[in-house]
Amino acid sequence: MVRLMCTGRVDLSFIFRAFAKGMDGVFIGGCWPGECHYITDGNYHALNMVHLCKKIMEYIGLNPERLRLEWISASEGIRFAEVMNDFSNKLSELGPIGKSEGLDENELKSKLEMVNKLIPYIKLVKRDKLALRPETEEEYARIYTSEEIEELFSKVVSYYIDPEKCQACQICRRKCPVEAIEGGKNLIHVIDQDKCIKCGTCFEVCPPRFAAVQKFSGEPVPPPIPADKRTIERKSKKKGGESKK
Ligand code: SF4
Ligand code: SF4
Repeated sequence: MVRLMCTGRVDLSFIFRAFAKGMDGVFIGGCWPGECHYITDGNYHALNMVHLCKKIMEYIGLNPERLRLEWISASEGIRFAEVMNDFSNKLSELGPIGKSEGLDENELKSKLEMVNKLIPYIKLVKRDKLALRPETEEEYARIYTSEEIEELFSKVVSYYIDPEKCQACQICRRKCPVEAIEGGKNLIHVIDQDKCIKCGTCFEVCPPRFAAVQKFSGEPVPPPIPADKRTIERKSKKKGGESKK
């Protein structure tokens, strides 16, 4: 069990990490809507995020009933016990994670790894919807559709540095939030796709005169240029500025 002060602190990554660690279910208990102790309305954030999470669970073949969010105030001890018993019974009925869904261990593991890796990207792409605060719980349930989640995963973007265009200005490497770009002075820069969280910063900051960062949607990026071919040999400035050989 993880105790957090506010449901608004619960992140998609906490939930999928719990499933990846073999938890059969995740329960989130929060203050009733309108009764937020911190006036941050974190419970609305949690409600929105849980609906997104359930759609992703459906997409990867996990029963969304393994995730439950309930409003329970600190004075509702009996209700808390009833809700927890009910959730526990539901999980017993569902059985071990993946089994009742017909997913073998490796398949489940790779699906959860894929989702965990894409969480920063998912949060970025869905940031506008994640900020929505509709009036009713029914409206929250309609924020995300199965079709858009399918599209989200089938058109995942990737970024690639065109070795013919990169001028090793190093801006992208300095701005990358997760140090996913390898490079240095006079070295063609390369994105480590395993580390990249697809934030798009490199695409934004690469100077337009170089436009070396390319965006791919739903298709694999070319392999990185070999390390021994990354040195940029510049012509003399007198003869032609900083163009590559
Ligand atoms: S998309 Fe973001 S995380 Fe990926 S390499 Fe570019 S700056 Fe780094
Ligand atoms: S910002 Fe563009 S030109 Fe500069 S190092 Fe990165 S990819 Fe290369």
